[in-house]
Amino acid sequence: NNNRHDRDKEVNVQVLLRCRPLSDEEQRTNIPKVISCNEHKKEVTVLQSVANKQVDRVFTFDKVFGPKAQQRSIYDQAIAPIVNEVLEGFNCTVFAYGQTGTGKTYTMEGGMRNKGGDLPAEAGVIPRAVRQIFDTLEAQNADYSMKVTFLELYNEEITDLLAPEDTLRCTDDRQKKPISLMEDGKGCVVVRGLEEEAVRSHSVFSITVHVKEASVGDEELIKCGKLNLVDLAGSENISRSGAREGRAREAGEINKSLLTLGRVINALVERSAHIPYRDSKLTRLLRDSLGGKTKTCIIATISPSAHSLEETLSTLDYAYRAK
Ligand code: ADP
Ligand code: MG
Repeated sequence: NNNRHDRDKEVNVQVLLRCRPLSDEEQRTNIPKVISCNEHKKEVTVLQSVANKQVDRVFTFDKVFGPKAQQRSIYDQAIAPIVNEVLEGFNCTVFAYGQTGTGKTYTMEGGMRNKGGDLPAEAGVIPRAVRQIFDTLEAQNADYSMKVTFLELYNEEITDLLAPEDTLRCTDDRQKKPISLMEDGKGCVVVRGLEEEAVRSHSVFSITVHVKEASVGDEELIKCGKLNLVDLAGSENISRSGAREGRAREAGEINKSLLTLGRVINALVERSAHIPYRDSKLTRLLRDSLGGKTKTCIIATISPSAHSLEETLSTLDYAYRAK
């Protein structure tokens, strides 16, 4: 079958770029903007002058979302098709990659203002994906089950963010706030309270859906798909973030897992014979959802501020290489 053959050969890695708006504080202090987004041309331009000469750099991505892009529009254009794949029984992964403070958590979790029955305009990928899965399967009157896990990867160690004993435990100098589970009015459990401002860890929210397709005698035909929504640790260089003593190992591990992730994605895009999944816990964890027939989406997040120029260039280079 030709179609199936084509699907096997497709490159299923998509790289999107999102630039957040300047914050109120950044606007108040007149921080110059050095990023210009052209959503139509799918281009991001970094405005740079060296020795009074304008040496702009242009990067192209699969999609570009500028500072005015709404959560809903990103979801509808980039994520909804991936969730449809999951409902068809494929495993897929969405990553948010970028420097701390550029909108990874905003993109994945979002804001919860206007709490109520409907999704708030600021709701991010996680609540929207859960909603899409419920809505689709309910509309089909399907016989299904949905399971979610939420875990954190810190220094190559996994913590279950949904297990009460773990959420109350203190690790090193980090004090975890309790995680609260909330119903969204449709019987859906939503996790709130995970605030990882200065915590340089990866968080992985996974949704597994089983849909019953048919029963043949005693046998049941079940379609199973999995969606991983990954809020990666801040990609900034530890030396630049003024890290204290004792954070060096943390930085090393984070860089290691981000570098390994980059290598794995590179190897997938280039169809290498060897994919180095085993080189980090993150890629081992996601192994069944990276490569093969799975779909991968990387949302690289950047700040428009001149103060982040160096980190922005490093994010753009990383994301561009993943294409
Ligand atoms: P990160 O998780 O990458 O460290 P956050 O998601 O916490 O960054 O974002 C940092 C701040 O910027 C938050 O206050 C967040 O609400 C705000 N922010 C990020 N992206 C956007 C956006 N696209 N629109 C409006 N506010 C944003
Ligand atoms: Mg964050």
